[in-house]
Amino acid sequence: MKIAIIGGGYVGLVSGACLATFGASVTIVDRDPTRFAQLQSGHVPIYEPGLDALFTQEAKRGTLRFSADMETALAECEAVFIAVGTPTRRGSGHADLSYVYAVAHDIAKMASHSLLVVTKSTVPVGTGREVSRILRENRPDLTFHIASNPEFLREGNAIDDFMRPDRVIIGLDQQSPDKGAHARALLTELYHPLTTPHNRLTFMGLESAELTKYAANAFLAMKVTFANEMADLCEATGADIREVTHGMGQDPRIGPDFLTPGPGYGGSCFPKDTRALATSARKAGTPTQLIDITIAANEARKQRLADRILSLLDHPIHTKIIAVLGLTFKAHTDDMRDAPALSILPALHEAGARLQLFDPQGMDQARPLLPQDIPYADSALNATEGADVVLILTEWPLFKDLTPQQLSRTMKGRLVLDYRGIWEPTAWQEAGFTYHRLGRKNET
Ligand code: NAD
Repeated sequence: MKIAIIGGGYVGLVSGACLATFGASVTIVDRDPTRFAQLQSGHVPIYEPGLDALFTQEAKRGTLRFSADMETALAECEAVFIAVGTPTRRGSGHADLSYVYAVAHDIAKMASHSLLVVTKSTVPVGTGREVSRILRENRPDLTFHIASNPEFLREGNAIDDFMRPDRVIIGLDQQSPDKGAHARALLTELYHPLTTPHNRLTFMGLESAELTKYAANAFLAMKVTFANEMADLCEATGADIREVTHGMGQDPRIGPDFLTPGPGYGGSCFPKDTRALATSARKAGTPTQLIDITIAANEARKQRLADRILSLLDHPIHTKIIAVLGLTFKAHTDDMRDAPALSILPALHEAGARLQLFDPQGMDQARPLLPQDIPYADSALNATEGADVVLILTEWPLFKDLTPQQLSRTMKGRLVLDYRGIWEPTAWQEAGFTYHRLGRKNET
């Protein structure tokens, strides 16, 4: 089967490479000339474990191609996937659908034959219908089908998530003359390698598929935020969040995942998707109070943690150096979109603290987003040189290898703020450090 994927970002690149391994002939189209040039020259423009190897393999097999020319890509394909960004619209919580609709207009202009148009981007309920309207009104002569196929991969584990998904959700247009039968048949064939007796495709209506993606992300954001609130309560009362969440997570109705406290959720999905869901729910006249509060609590958390860090520094603050290890919103990605570091670090910087930053993958993306005069180190250990405090904001495994003995030599002060809980306190305390982690009373 020949398919085109419009948008060569995290989702487009990973889905394209994985679908190519299933035997589909995939053309990824991206309109960004720098990105396109990188892809053409064999360079994967994002950091995602395993993606380089998959690209080389599939490009060599001839199953994966890149193009800046949508018309040629459309001329050859049976299905086109829209995988462009849906960021928050400036000045409101709404999802900015202009990229999705621009692609729909381009398809209407360029399609030469019958096509299945699949929305893979995360989009509010009604977007698929609008894509359909754009196609119908601009190309009354064109036979087309639409479907929704929201993506659930997680950055950092994206290939495995795509290849071994918990579920593949497919929303069918039950209002179309064939009630979605063509889309169902084509997508069943495409995803055939993923279906097993235990793991089948989950078909539903178009609107339900669109909402399922937002509902899932908002629920997870709420779960993280709940764990963060419980962590605060643990600190205030002497309970330990690890013990509490272990006890909670043993209940299969709750489950152990997404209960680790941290500096607030971030990334390219949870913040924008919770905002978009809350905004569209308000517009629909059914406000989602839980999600409104989740968004506000997550914002407040980042500011509160910045205040807490500042309160731990002796005065004068401008003489204090904080080594910050980890900038990305989680480990194994270079994605800096809505990372908690982007709220916490400017607040520390503005208060006068001196920062020394290190992240194994995110520094290039962080530079334009953080105050320009903050220095970056070339290793985690070098970032701690002369520091009064070491602050862990991302759970990169390589930070676990740093020892109290090493940091005793490089650091001036003895304060560890392990806000991802990557280290065990005893070794640090025995070496004379004051060790703080979230969700447990301070340990000295
Ligand atoms: P991204 O910003 O990394 O990539 C989008 C790409 O689309 C960019 O390279 C851009 O140049 C390209 N593009 C935009 N308009 C185009 C056009 N008209 N023609 C060709 N290319 C165009 O975005 P992403 O992180 O891959 O996310 C894409 C969608 O998938 C979003 O809706 C997102 O919410 C959703 N999603 C993302 C993730 C994730 O982890 N990143 C996971 C699941 C779902």
